[in-house]
Formats: sequence, structure tokens, C-alpha cells
Amino acid sequence: MTGGVVVVGAGLAGATAATSLRELGFDGTVTLLGAEPVLPYERPGLSKGYLAGSTSADDLQVHGAEVYETLGIDVRLGTEAVALDAQAQRLSLADGSTLSYDDVVIATGGVNRRPPLPGMELTGVHQLRTIAEASALRSAASMARTAVVVGQGFVGCEVAATLRSLGLDVTMVDPLPGPLWALGDEISARVAQWHADAGVRMRNAVGAASLDGDGTVTSVTLADGAVLPADLVVVGVGARPATDWVSGVDLVDGAVAVDADGRSSAPRAWAIGDAAAAWDEQTRDHRRVEHFDSAIVQGQRVAHALAGAPSPAVGRTWFWTDQHGD
Ligand SMILES: Cc1cc2nc3c(=O)[nH]c(=O)nc-3n(C[C@H](O)[C@H](O)[C@H](O)COP(=O)(O)OP(=O)(O)OC[C@H]3O[C@@H](n4cnc5c(N)ncnc54)[C@H](O)[C@@H]3O)c2cc1C
Repeated sequence: MTGGVVVVGAGLAGATAATSLRELGFDGTVTLLGAEPVLPYERPGLSKGYLAGSTSADDLQVHGAEVYETLGIDVRLGTEAVALDAQAQRLSLADGSTLSYDDVVIATGGVNRRPPLPGMELTGVHQLRTIAEASALRSAASMARTAVVVGQGFVGCEVAATLRSLGLDVTMVDPLPGPLWALGDEISARVAQWHADAGVRMRNAVGAASLDGDGTVTSVTLADGAVLPADLVVVGVGARPATDWVSGVDLVDGAVAVDADGRSSAPRAWAIGDAAAAWDEQTRDHRRVEHFDSAIVQGQRVAHALAGAPSPAVGRTWFWTDQHGD
């Protein structure tokens, strides 16, 4: 084989793996495939500064184009892998072509969960994962007065905070008892206070039953019958691993099961970032960690393994959030 390393997914994890390989002296071919038409960028800013209009698309880029060029990384944007033949070490691409590899790194991140809510297809209903979706939401927000955010996880809370800072009347709804409930009731109560202080309304312990409108959303009906007016709705109920195109490797809840270096069950196939569930020696299970720092660390670790360099130490995972400046 002479396909070198093919990294599928030009996000933070994929870009880190590709550039780290070069920094470690790897001199084989490195190809970075990305389904989106833009260079790898950092998603955290999408729900914060980019949505608020204070951060530009260039500010979010992981690296400028010249970095990939200088490092000799073949970046192919708008290029989607649709199938993996792990035995033949070959990828099928959406344009009908195939690409052989010596090693493949699966770094395809996640896709937003789409709840089976009536009205999800209405104009004015948004989800947020890509910069294109963030641009659409930003433009809709500039013309809206009321917003309902379905889901009080990280993305829902951050979007609610940013929309509020833009002057919208914002209500968050969630069947769970409070925002960021996964972090425990104490943290949830503190986050709820930030939102309340900023004037964000919360409807806890009640889910959305339907998104209503004639072509364009105008309101949200809750499971208890309450109707909330909405010029726009943002549905943020989590993401699942973007691995529909992957076969021939072991998955855990849809994520590629890998060891701490990103090695999967198939020979010469690796996975990192939101698409991977990495073995955690402390908890003795595979864990999918959907955070910025993990994408970087896993990208670096897989590059070390591929370049034959000693693995860096496994540190603690951490994350941050930014809501109402707190
Ligand atoms: C709005 C938002 C805010 C966030 N805020 C924070 C935060 O404050 N703090 C924090 O720690 N984390 C945050 N995160 C999480 C963090 O951004 C992710 O954990 C990180 O982006 C994961 O990187 P990744 O490279 O694994 O996946 P991604 O960034 O999702 O990149 C994957 C890339 O692969 C591409 N792709 C998918 N399928 C294919 C295919 N078949 N072929 C080719 N390419 C494909 C996708 O188009 C995408 O560009 C946030 C995420 C979002 C969406």
C-alpha cells in the first residue's frame, strides 16, 4: 500500500492528528478529507462569539491554509467518505471514487440528534453543529424577537445565553429538572440562577410536544399544553457519533471503540474525537468524551502511535462552557 495516512473528518481532532504527524517527523502521505467545504474550525465559538457576531469565521480556524500547505498535508474539502472497507484498506467517497490507505483515522465527529417532534421541518427551526448552521441561526436571530430553545444541555444553554445577549426574549424547555442536569443538581441550580438573572425563562421538567406553524414556526406546544410564541426555535438535544458510513470495526453506542491511542478492532483503522469511545483505564470502559480538549489530546496521541513515537501521558479530561459571561 502507498496510500499513507488518510484522516477522515476535517474537524479539530482530524486537523490535530494530521499536523501532529508532520510535527513528529512522519514523512509519508497525509490526506485530510472533510465533508464540509471549509477548513477545519473550532466549534465552541459557534454558540458563543460567532453567534453573537463578535468572532469571525477566520478566528475559528484551527490553522490557516498555509499551514497545511507548508506541512504537505493534502486537504480535500467537500469530500465525504461513504464507506469503509477495513479488510481491503479502502474508502469509498461520495463522488464514486475510492481511496486506498495504509492507515485510516476516523475523525468524523458527531451529528445532531433530531428528535421525532412534529414540526421539526418548519422554517425557523434550527439545530447547531456546523458553521453554516450557525450563520443561518445568526441571520434568523437578527430578525427575531422571541426564541424557544429545546434542550438545556451545553449547546442549548449557550445558545439561549447568546440569543438573550442579542436582546431576544428567550425560553428554554427540557423534560429534565434543570439546565446542565447531567452535572448534578448543585451546578444545575447555579446555572439556572445565571439564566434567571439574565432574563432567560426556563420551563423545567416539561418537554416540547410539537413545533407549530404553517410553513414557518410560530410557537411551541409543551407536553403540559402550554403554548410558547416563537419566531425561531433551536433544538439542541445532543449529538450521536457520525459513523453511519463505518463498518468492520467494533462500535460502542455508535462510537468506534478504541484503546487509549485510538487503535480500533480492525487492523490499521483508528478513531479519535467525538466519533470515538476511548478505553479509560480508570473506569475500565469505553467512554465517548465530546469535548474540545479530548479532540486535541486524542489527535495528538494517534499521531504519536502512527509515527512510532512514545505515547504522551494520559491526563484528565476537562471542558469549559461560557454562559452570560460566567
Ligand atoms: C455549538 C458547539 C459548542 C461547543 N462548545 C464547547 C465548549 O464550550 N467546550 C468544549 O470543551 N467543547 C465544546 N464543543 C464540543 C467540541 O467542539 C467537540 O468535542 C469537537 O468539535 C470534536 O471535534 P471532532 O474533530 O471530533 O469533531 P467535529 O468538530 O464534529 O469534526 C468532524 C468533521 O468531520 C466531518 N465529517 C463527518 N462525516 C464525514 C465523512 N463521512 N467524510 C468526511 N468528513 C466527514 C464533519 O463535517 C466535521 O467537519 C462544542 C460543540 C458544538 C457543536
